[in-house]
Amino acid sequence: MSWLARFFGKKTMESARHAPRVFLTNSLSGSKELFIPLRPGTVSLYTCGPTVYSRQHIGNLRPGVFSDTLARTLTCAGYRVRRVINITDVGHLVGDGDTGEDKIDTGARREGLSASAIAERYTKSFLDDLAELNVDTKDIFFPRATEYIREQISLARTLEEKGFAYRIRDGLYFDTSRFPGYGALGGLGTAVLKAGARVETNPEKHHPADFVLWKKTSPDVHRLQEWDSPWGRGAPGWNIECSAMARALLGIEIDIHTGGEDLAQTHHNNEIAQSEAASGRPFVRYWMHNAFLNMEGEKISKSLGNVLYLSDIALKGYHLLSLRYFFLQAHYRTPLSFSWDALAGASGALERLWKLAREIARESGRRNAHSETRERFLATMRDDLATPQALGILWDSLKSEEYAPEEKWGLLEDAEMHLGLSLLSPPSPDILTGADIPKDIKNKLAAREAARNSRDFEEADRIRNAIEHGGYRVDDGPDGPVLTRAPL
Ligand code: AMP
Ligand code: ZN
Repeated sequence: MSWLARFFGKKTMESARHAPRVFLTNSLSGSKELFIPLRPGTVSLYTCGPTVYSRQHIGNLRPGVFSDTLARTLTCAGYRVRRVINITDVGHLVGDGDTGEDKIDTGARREGLSASAIAERYTKSFLDDLAELNVDTKDIFFPRATEYIREQISLARTLEEKGFAYRIRDGLYFDTSRFPGYGALGGLGTAVLKAGARVETNPEKHHPADFVLWKKTSPDVHRLQEWDSPWGRGAPGWNIECSAMARALLGIEIDIHTGGEDLAQTHHNNEIAQSEAASGRPFVRYWMHNAFLNMEGEKISKSLGNVLYLSDIALKGYHLLSLRYFFLQAHYRTPLSFSWDALAGASGALERLWKLAREIARESGRRNAHSETRERFLATMRDDLATPQALGILWDSLKSEEYAPEEKWGLLEDAEMHLGLSLLSPPSPDILTGADIPKDIKNKLAAREAARNSRDFEEADRIRNAIEHGGYRVDDGPDGPVLTRAPL
């Protein structure tokens, strides 16, 4: 039983036998489809994970929040969700194709560490980031590519035996011309099969779309990680790890595969080709892709100097769940543009939501009741994870006089299960008292109280603004003003 079911008890979970209808946009068809799993009551869900040679920027975390929201929604609909996110610790080359140094080797040289130490460092930082964003990593399996070398060699061998691969000097390559329908994802169609559709630097390849399954280490290169294989000493290509690990851990055919939209055209088409050519069966029933997070209209990239990490958000004084709220304000298929102003907006909204949640917890005594608004919320989430609309329903209902506190608490329970925003136990604001408060702010607080007591609200507001200018925030609680540090 997943932690959601354990935490909330079976009562609030739907029974798998009467699983409600969930609709998902399948990138294969480009349209919203009714979700029908391979086996009733169970979902296998594979998500392409990070290459662990450097820290993940905040854009890389969007697929994590998206797939977590998807898993939560399916779990709440009564499914047992089996999850895998792969950790790429070998095979992803700097050129993102068949050329260049292994990214792990680049990271290792940069930091003077071994390949495994680099991979461990950045795997840990990825898992920590996910945990900060309320992604429950305990229920996810994170296989490392280096732990599945045997499975990758075996899959490559099957492809060669079946005539889907050819050998050239630097390794074993997948022959895309042998796989009918190559390029079904990402609107690629047959365009990629026209010569020149992808830039080619290896003249021995039969076609630019062909890709490496096993890369032989060339004599002039020192690779930090390499293995023996039927094709010589070397390392697996980047694409084959996902096909091999999905098959080893979730089976030949899986329900859902997710990843960022940049992966659809090449990496995911290659995964389909490898897996289906080897098994002769369909690989994935539903492909789902999240759109990108951009930085004020530009791509996030080191060369543009606009890369931000979760720690930058913490340094500015924001709660890290502000980023999760920011992601959820947009549909996962909509490109998002990050700006500090937009994050401040999300942070303010989440703080207000937490304040409302604390009040409702008090008023309801944490007792829940059923209501029509909960049904609407569930149906909205099950409609391709329509998180902006679901947040709208949440806000409207919590502020409305129409619902009893118990009904609102029930809605908050549903919202928490789906959205993971710590709504049932909001973090307590970092309340400042006594010696923590600088003298001039203390004086301003006293002056504001005096103005409020004499009903001079204009003056009270003016002083509040001055307090905020000084980096603090004042809220009026039942026992008087409460001072917290404001984000910078
Ligand atoms: P990588 O470590 O580059 O392989 O990326 C890990 C995951 O993050 C992949 O699913 C990418 O598609 C995704 N990704 C990379 N950059 C962004 C971005 N700016 N916005 C959203 N997703 C991204
Ligand atoms: Zn992958």
